[in-house]
Amino acid sequence: MDSVVYCAEYLGDRHMRMWMIDPKLLCHKHLLGEHGELHKFIPSFHKKYRIDNRVAPVVQIELSSYQSRHDELATEMLRRGMNHKSPLPELPDFSYLPPEQYEAKVDKEVSKRDLRDRCEDCKV
Ligand SMILES: [Zn+2]
Ligand SMILES: [Zn+2]
Repeated sequence: MDSVVYCAEYLGDRHMRMWMIDPKLLCHKHLLGEHGELHKFIPSFHKKYRIDNRVAPVVQIELSSYQSRHDELATEMLRRGMNHKSPLPELPDFSYLPPEQYEAKVDKEVSKRDLRDRCEDCKV
């Protein structure tokens, strides 16, 4: 029996995406969006959320950078005068994932291209 579960609420179009580009280039909406998803998805990873469609065909999350990415986004939020009061909860144990999924790296050029297509406010 496969204990890895999909969380139905995330099967819609609200997938998690880590852009991984310099946070200064992100508009407010995408900065807050990426940051918020890092908080929001922690419980899913505790429940062993599968990421098959997040790392293929395009790598859209980079779990090995979860904490550091959160911290650089939070730093940029503070720099813009936004509030950031809640620390990231304890990170899940990602060892249920295959190493190649955990260690997958986002291609920043793909992130920039996608942001360019969908957002006029990001400075990409
Ligand atoms: Zn945060
Ligand atoms: Zn944007």
